[in-house]
Amino acid sequence: MSTTEQEIRLGKLTRREFRERMASGELAGCLIPVAAIEQHLEHLAMEHDWRSVGLVARAVAKRLAPRVLVAEGLMCGISEHHMRHPGTLTLSPGTFLGVLGDMIDSMARAGFRNIVVVNGHGGNIEPVRGTWDQFLRRFEGVNLHFLSYWETLSQADADELLQGGKRMPDDLPGHAQEFETSVALAKFAGNVRGGAVSDQLDRSPALATAEQGNEWFERVTERLANFIGEVIDGQRQSETPLFHP
Ligand SMILES: [Zn+2]
Repeated sequence: MSTTEQEIRLGKLTRREFRERMASGELAGCLIPVAAIEQHLEHLAMEHDWRSVGLVARAVAKRLAPRVLVAEGLMCGISEHHMRHPGTLTLSPGTFLGVLGDMIDSMARAGFRNIVVVNGHGGNIEPVRGTWDQFLRRFEGVNLHFLSYWETLSQADADELLQGGKRMPDDLPGHAQEFETSVALAKFAGNVRGGAVSDQLDRSPALATAEQGNEWFERVTERLANFIGEVIDGQRQSETPLFHP
């Protein structure tokens, strides 16, 4: 039986449907994708991080259906370092963390006790890490996790699949280079401007293939589904840091 969008996306449910599924105990976990809309070199559409993390989150929710719901997410991220390229959207760190905290709070108040923030943009990582122990205290009682989807990949994966540079995180995930371009070619090729791939300073995107992108996507979604499966089964627990005595 195929999974419908309605089964895996919060925004597709009515309040009654949500209420009934939560009351039945069917919903064990919630994913909150976060990303960025920012320049991705000359050849890749600016939505890349948001498009890819959303696709990953929904693919993971499908694998774990009907136990996991994707809470739509936060498309815009911390991208001050890309602002010299006009068109990039950025949130200041305080705004991003404020909105993320409120989204986690909303899902905790809806009844979720397992919440995973799935990240698709490098610029969000350090601000979130610096604040994460505050969130763990604020949401005590929630099994709360943050991870970037490419953290499921290892140096061995980079060595095996990348044709060009194999350094982590410079080449995996990198920025709009072989890895991201290959995922776009595999999953939403309309976002790749073929003519511009080689018509720019950085030529590494030209190494990307759709075949490679499909393999990345399979590995990421399978491993992330395992991680989130462990979270909702209680085998993976976040720890609340100590409070001041
Ligand atoms: Zn990106």
